[in-house]
Amino acid sequence: MLQTIRTGVNAPSLPRYSLVLPIYNEEQVLPRLVERIRSLISQLDGETEVIFVDDGSRDGSVRYLRRAVGAEPRFRLIELSRNFGHQIAITAGMDAAEGEAVIVMDADLQDPPEVVLDLVAKWREGFEIVYARRIKREGESWFKRLTASLFYRLLEKMTSVDIPRDVGDFRLVGRKALETFRQMPEHDRFVRGLFGWMGFKQTAVPFERPARTLGQTKYPFWKMVHLAVHGIVSFSEQPLRLALWGGLTISALAVAFGAYAIFAWIFETGIIAGWTSTVVIVSLLCGINLFMTGVVGLYVGSIHAEVKRRPLYVIDRLTGFDEAIRGVPG
Ligand code: UDP
Ligand code: MG
Repeated sequence: MLQTIRTGVNAPSLPRYSLVLPIYNEEQVLPRLVERIRSLISQLDGETEVIFVDDGSRDGSVRYLRRAVGAEPRFRLIELSRNFGHQIAITAGMDAAEGEAVIVMDADLQDPPEVVLDLVAKWREGFEIVYARRIKREGESWFKRLTASLFYRLLEKMTSVDIPRDVGDFRLVGRKALETFRQMPEHDRFVRGLFGWMGFKQTAVPFERPARTLGQTKYPFWKMVHLAVHGIVSFSEQPLRLALWGGLTISALAVAFGAYAIFAWIFETGIIAGWTSTVVIVSLLCGINLFMTGVVGLYVGSIHAEVKRRPLYVIDRLTGFDEAIRGVPG
């Protein structure tokens, strides 16, 4: 939506780089972030625009950003009308980006701005998509590291799409990949998977991920589970197949057990123990049944979200974009 508005504008010169930063309650980090971004821009070899996407922050982030954007012509701010979530915030930023290369990074300085120079170097070598791969994750609990690593391995097993391991949303994408991304309207967004899916020449740049020093993670456990489930549901049909084969296997076992029970009854081996076996089997089957129904429900829910065809996000206010589009609602 935003890009269609922007293409109508006769912009004097398009930037070479667009930085996209999703922001959700990051007021503590912002002053340092802005400073680091400024120094990064001065090291980049071309015009750069910086797009902050405020994802419905409830702290002073917006106030700070409006001021920062007012004072710096290369900064832009998209304020979403509420919290839409990290993946959607990134999407809104990429929709508005005009650069030849777009770099998405977290705002909390866990994605060090200096690494962008390495990403850019690879892009100049001809790679369309350059991931930053975490080779070390400092200050993250063993639990987060373990669950993250299990998730990436599970995902790799379950999908045919190449979704690189230990890669978050810190990446550079070229114009072709960006245009492709914009043609993907799906609601169930697992952005890293979408870029894996589209192909092109891709590579990774390693970096050590520092701990978050200011503010708190916006990904509590349940949000991580949510992201993981959506990642799997939108990139794999294996859980559905699992339901099919799991159901068949259990039915086969049930038939075998029935045959055994009849055999025992006829020959009066007399060991048909009363209700224990019954209860165990019934509750096991009920549990599996419910689980499988839930799996199917996930897919149905996902289809439901798509067919409604609502916009992915709603823009409340734009600051720092060209005069012609200022105030145009998303
Ligand atoms: N974020 C967002 N919307 C949300 C949650 C997070 O825009 O609903 C932003 C957040 O401000 C940060 C980035 O997404 O810039 C990554 O979040 P966070 O650092 O909390 O995740 P973690 O590094 O702990 O996985
Ligand atoms: Mg973080």
